[in-house]
Amino acid sequence: MTHVFHRNPQHTLKRAVRGQGISLFDQDGRAYLDASGGAAVSCLGHGHPDVIAAIKAQLDEVAYAHSSFFTTQACEDLADFLAGEAPGDLDHVYFVSGGSEAVEAALKLARQYFVERGETERSQFIARRQSYHGNTLGALAIGGNAWRRQPFLPLLAPAHHVSPCYAYRDQLPGETEEQYAARLADELERKILEIGAERVAAFVAETVVGATAGALPPVRTYLRRIREVCDRHGVLLILDEVMSGMGRTGHLYACAEDGVAPDILAIAKGLGAGYQPIGAMLASRRVYDTIVNGSGFFQHGHTYMGHATACAAALAVQRVIRRDALLDNVLARGEQLRTRLRAVFADHPNVGDVRGRGLFVGVEFVRDRADKSVLDPALKTHARLKRQAMENGLMVYPMGGTVDGVHGDHVLLAPPFICTAADIDEIVARLDRTV
Ligand code: PMP
Repeated sequence: MTHVFHRNPQHTLKRAVRGQGISLFDQDGRAYLDASGGAAVSCLGHGHPDVIAAIKAQLDEVAYAHSSFFTTQACEDLADFLAGEAPGDLDHVYFVSGGSEAVEAALKLARQYFVERGETERSQFIARRQSYHGNTLGALAIGGNAWRRQPFLPLLAPAHHVSPCYAYRDQLPGETEEQYAARLADELERKILEIGAERVAAFVAETVVGATAGALPPVRTYLRRIREVCDRHGVLLILDEVMSGMGRTGHLYACAEDGVAPDILAIAKGLGAGYQPIGAMLASRRVYDTIVNGSGFFQHGHTYMGHATACAAALAVQRVIRRDALLDNVLARGEQLRTRLRAVFADHPNVGDVRGRGLFVGVEFVRDRADKSVLDPALKTHARLKRQAMENGLMVYPMGGTVDGVHGDHVLLAPPFICTAADIDEIVARLDRTV
């Protein structure tokens, strides 16, 4: 009898007793290659000595000091680093404890920004059908996961949805990427006009869609077109890089690769790399100054914001990534991973697509690759793949069937940035055996 409130009590979980490098070990001493980084979290793998040393040093100094009384060196240094690397003028960093909190803060900041400007009608959010932004009520309200939303519908603020950028499925024959991006931007613009631009606060999107679609990157000009539409109608652009940010795509901020800076950006997961729970929201100077010069107070906050130990861990993670030039490895190993997967599954009738950026890679499974028809959801292919992969000592992150607009099943691969060429070959071999 356990007193742990497991979300899925039918599911027997192994007990993790040790983590080392890219592997986790269970109570029987079995090793599991962490090819998913948990859920795109563990970007430095497990047991990294530099991060552990930084956490210990911070604990010796001060573990926690409430943010209404004190700041800390770790918090200031981390904010400097994140703002210094951020695209555009995203130069104010607001620390929270995770991804949902970062998104929640972003939604509230967008709303308060318009209240401060006297544009009090602007309260509506537009997001995309195939998206996940977190499980708190605000983040859940804008997400596209019908199954997760269903029991809570009476509690959720209304939200509007448009199509995701899903070239594998939705780009028309003969349509160029540029034309496809323009079509999606048109759809967003029509949605804004239908609601009434004066009522729309922000458009929210994951830069690269993570869990719900298996590392789905936008076509190259998509974000630029979206940015133009938002600007034309005074709508803020919020990008959610909780999964895709912090180097996962080979760039510290995924949107930098698309040449776009949002007004507000949410990050988490890889920020603390699993060593401490931490997330952050970055706000542009314009948005921040509007609050500061207006009421002077952002009406939102949490007990653990700017947690000293969490900031020290995240700072150590980012310093290791920079010192060891790990983003170069992310690009090289990511390329290798996609190339090897495409080769191994070239003739597999049920592998429809291999995609992603950097070490953020998705494999989409279909009934028939020729017509991209979807697998029967009742088969729960993604869940069976996960279980079988664990039998083969491999962690992959599955998703399928429960999200509006999801076609088929996916697994997400997001191995630690420290993985070697041999590790990638081993991950592919084990996934091949599993499939
Ligand atoms: N946004 C995205 C894109 C995510 O992938 C997640 C977590 N899977 C969240 C938000 C929520 O983050 P958390 O689970 O840390 O609250």
